[in-house]
Amino acid sequence: MQTSIIPIFIPHIGCPHRCVFCNQWQITGHQGLPSPDEVRRLIASYTASARTPRYWEAAFYGGSFTAMPGEVQEGLLQPAYEALEAGTIDAIRCSTRPDCITPEILQRLQQYGMTCVELGVQSMDDTVLEQARRGHTAGDVVAATALLRQYGFTVGHQLMPGLPGEDWPSLVRTTAAICRLQPDLARIYPVAVLAGTDLAASWRAGRYQPLTIHEGVVRAAYMKQHFLEQGINCIRTGLQATENLDDDTQVLAGAYTPAMGELVDTRRYGRQLLSFLRSLPDEPAITIGYNRRDTSRVRGYRNVTVKTACWSLPQHLTWHQDEVPLGHIRVCQGRTVYDLDVNSKTGPTMI
Ligand code: SF4
Repeated sequence: MQTSIIPIFIPHIGCPHRCVFCNQWQITGHQGLPSPDEVRRLIASYTASARTPRYWEAAFYGGSFTAMPGEVQEGLLQPAYEALEAGTIDAIRCSTRPDCITPEILQRLQQYGMTCVELGVQSMDDTVLEQARRGHTAGDVVAATALLRQYGFTVGHQLMPGLPGEDWPSLVRTTAAICRLQPDLARIYPVAVLAGTDLAASWRAGRYQPLTIHEGVVRAAYMKQHFLEQGINCIRTGLQATENLDDDTQVLAGAYTPAMGELVDTRRYGRQLLSFLRSLPDEPAITIGYNRRDTSRVRGYRNVTVKTACWSLPQHLTWHQDEVPLGHIRVCQGRTVYDLDVNSKTGPTMI
């Protein structure tokens, strides 16, 4: 059954910090805290609009849910919990800060039926966290992840490559640390410089050099590939497009493009496929088979991988949809057939 999210945006309220990249109302496109009645109406309008049965998840996103006063959390959770009990929705999740996780907080969330908590981790490098004025350390992430596991929550980590002070060694260390922690899911948001943030002021003053879109793609692809190889489900790369984010008076610089997810997968698939094709003999011709739903990942965003292969490789190549599992590419040359599992470390295997 298709999973559908009911996004309930919680602005900066309750958060004791102001991270350099944060302009929370900009990210969410919403400014005020919703009332419990608004939450109730939002759930009703989403669930009533679907023509086919869905797995509905109410998601409190956009701020630091568990940093809000307990009674505010309870007020917002109550209508979601009632919908859960009535069978109108199937799950509740929230996102929050790693230093706002305690046994008492988790007990409250559980009382209201929440099962998944996503932590704004951003980096596992304390120097980067300090420069981003996150107000927490990598140690807080380790402790919060352990506590969430102890209480049986599904754990998500949100990462932000490209923060001030992050270089490649730092990104590699962060990726390795997340792989060791083994969250159930991850989201990767390369840094975009939003108007009204401290990062925008640093960028204007020449103190911060943001990632280009290409650099954001490269860093996010590195992280995603390692997460998938370790069995960590990477459910998003790049900020969800909104009207605000598509306004270039609001996104001033950095690695924001609505196509980030496609570009990241184009790089992951393309590099592995092209490197394997380069290792094959020039003759005979090669056919490349892929799952219909993997078409743009295998062929590349705007066919870039097909075009690159065409001008850079000596073999004659034919590309076609086939009965191949998602995430796999079938490469046939003469009577030899190879399976390339893009999301694993195993490399191409002869079948
Ligand atoms: S913790 Fe989240 S809500 Fe608080 S300032 Fe940082 S990004 Fe914004």
